[in-house]
Amino acid sequence: IITLKNVQKSFGHNPVLKDVSFSVNQGQVVALIGASGSGKSTALRCIDRLETINGGSIEVCGHKVEDPHVNLRKLRQDVGIVFQSYNLFPHLTIEQNITLGPVSVKKMAKAEARRLALSVLEQVGLADKADSYPEQLSGGQQQRAAIARSLAMKPKVMLFDEVTSALDPKLTGEVLRVIERLAGSGMTMIMVTHEMNFARRVADKIIFMHQGTVHESGTVEILKTPGTAALQEFISNDL
Ligand code: ATP
Ligand code: MG
Repeated sequence: IITLKNVQKSFGHNPVLKDVSFSVNQGQVVALIGASGSGKSTALRCIDRLETINGGSIEVCGHKVEDPHVNLRKLRQDVGIVFQSYNLFPHLTIEQNITLGPVSVKKMAKAEARRLALSVLEQVGLADKADSYPEQLSGGQQQRAAIARSLAMKPKVMLFDEVTSALDPKLTGEVLRVIERLAGSGMTMIMVTHEMNFARRVADKIIFMHQGTVHESGTVEILKTPGTAALQEFISNDL
């Protein structure tokens, strides 16, 4: 459902992705791990065409992402992306934040969008916060609201970029539980995470990036018996 082939991406003279290839099947949960600066966020951003690539190809849900004529609106309907910062609109209620996309992009009727908002809020455990404003929510609740907003667009795949790294441990747990439930429901997802225990528990596949390349990938077994010195070192730093 997601295929990257020999993807190259540079910022100026700085090659950030060097020949990155991997694929994600329908329903698969992939943890993208690696040291700071290894290119994880850039890889996710390329998948949603938030960055344009310099070489190779990316296909997501049938969209040829690097094609200049790709339908970005459709691509981004199929791909939900959630970042470390929640990016909720502060002047809108949680419900308004969620219904905005379905109403404006999908031309959904207001009443239907409202029902949808309540159902996705239910999914993330925030049914009682529909009328609150973002600033009235904790960091973890805001992050869950951001996930709900993404889900309201009925994406086929979800990309999570260190969605818990700004949160304290208790709030992190709340958000990880939502993601784990989503994984259990069969959602295809790539999550960039530093939560190695979470990755071990939830991921079907681990992709370890190192200096702009996929250095090692496989099942969670590779975390127990790393095949490369770089992964070995990355894991030992985590302890
Ligand atoms: P982290 O774990 O710290 O989030 P990462 O693996 O997500 O790291 P990226 O954000 O993908 O790393 O960055 C990879 C490299 O690309 C870094 O050297 C970074 O400085 C560079 N880079 C990322 N975005 C840009 C940009 N917009 N302009 C220039 N350089 C960039
Ligand atoms: Mg990053």
